[in-house]
Amino acid sequence: MQRAHSKELFATAQTFFPGGVNSPVRAFGSVGGDPICMDRGSGAYIYDVDDNRYIDYVCSYGPLILGHAPKRVAEAIIGAVHKGTTFGATNPKEVALAQRVQQAMPHMESMRMVSSGTEATMSAARVARGATGRDRIIKFAGCYHGHADLFLVAETGSGLATLGLPGSAGVPRGAISDTLTVPYNDLDATAALLEQIGDTVAAIIVEPLACNMGLVKPRPGFLQGLRQLCDRYGALLIFDEVITGFRVGLGGATERFGVRPDLTTLGKIIGGGLPVGAYGGRKDIMACVAPLGPVYQAGTLSGNPLAMAAGAATLDALMEDGLYERLEARGAAFMDQMNAVLQKYDRVGRMVREGSIFYLWLCPQATDDPLDYNDIKRADSALYQRFFKELLQRRICFAPSGFEVGFISAAHSEADLQETVRAVDESLDVALHARGAL
Ligand code: PMP
Repeated sequence: MQRAHSKELFATAQTFFPGGVNSPVRAFGSVGGDPICMDRGSGAYIYDVDDNRYIDYVCSYGPLILGHAPKRVAEAIIGAVHKGTTFGATNPKEVALAQRVQQAMPHMESMRMVSSGTEATMSAARVARGATGRDRIIKFAGCYHGHADLFLVAETGSGLATLGLPGSAGVPRGAISDTLTVPYNDLDATAALLEQIGDTVAAIIVEPLACNMGLVKPRPGFLQGLRQLCDRYGALLIFDEVITGFRVGLGGATERFGVRPDLTTLGKIIGGGLPVGAYGGRKDIMACVAPLGPVYQAGTLSGNPLAMAAGAATLDALMEDGLYERLEARGAAFMDQMNAVLQKYDRVGRMVREGSIFYLWLCPQATDDPLDYNDIKRADSALYQRFFKELLQRRICFAPSGFEVGFISAAHSEADLQETVRAVDESLDVALHARGAL
């Protein structure tokens, strides 16, 4: 496959951007080789700058539930752009998006639009601290909540509740000294920690379906247990639904798992591919946000009309009958076919899936789904690296990291999925042979 233009463009990009990228995973650091520069997308396909076409399961890490450049979203953006790109004032398009969000998620009684998931989680944490008058935040190992200082705690992966070290240079110890980390799915550890410090905890933040350490599902009772613990200790429960919101259903993970948080963070899909995030929830808590209350949070481009138009057009499409059922059916069929392939190779790993989110966990000998970050770390990264390259040669884009999930969009056809399964089969075969495992 010819990739000369990608190589050339990436070399130029390296002169401008650290590592040639504007977000680190794009640099292919964990899979090696030259990153591919993309030119355009259409439906289930993405085209690189050398005009090679790939079936895309990265879907820009989640937003593209309708596939690339869906007509109605493109038209909504074009329609909006002629009326001005930003006003710095309340506008009809932000109200229209908020109405749709609230219709699907009634627990978003009051909300704020921001421009990224990071802003949403960072702001929700601040609101939780402001509303409770407490400082501590409990998070779970392997969950990602954006790159604000308070969430960048090193993952020790230990089985104990830990007060971690900064997970990035430039994060002062002070910024994370009130962030405590507990293993995902470990209600006992969470309860034990709260027993010690419960009256100082502002919030527990959790991905109700963990999508940033591969895919880890909440154990039955885990989210309910967190709700009860929060109620007992007067802490707020924040669901980070930046990925799961409008992905696992209109009501997100909240509806899917039947547990109501106090605050929710959204991003990705609600922007229809443009930069949007949102946080919101209980009206009494959101009343703490300026100008109503003492918690400051602001944004020049918040509620941007182009982004709001793209988001509203996306949610309109999602609200049409049968879309999530179709995605569920596609996801289930894909999983069945993938499982058939995995069975050919002796316990090479497992497919984990929830709706249209999937994760190929290349963990030899795994007999059950992963439950936490320690489990996930048993994955064979070298195998993924080899597998990823083979798959890319067969024009299938999975994420360039063995810890990222894949996304099926409404644009992926059955033929696309079948072609993918065939390519997965061949790629696994080559990767396992190369490793000397077959
Ligand atoms: N929360 C979750 C659950 C995420 O997956 C992400 C991004 N992958 C974020 C927050 C941060 O969002 P953004 O990259 O838009 O800042």
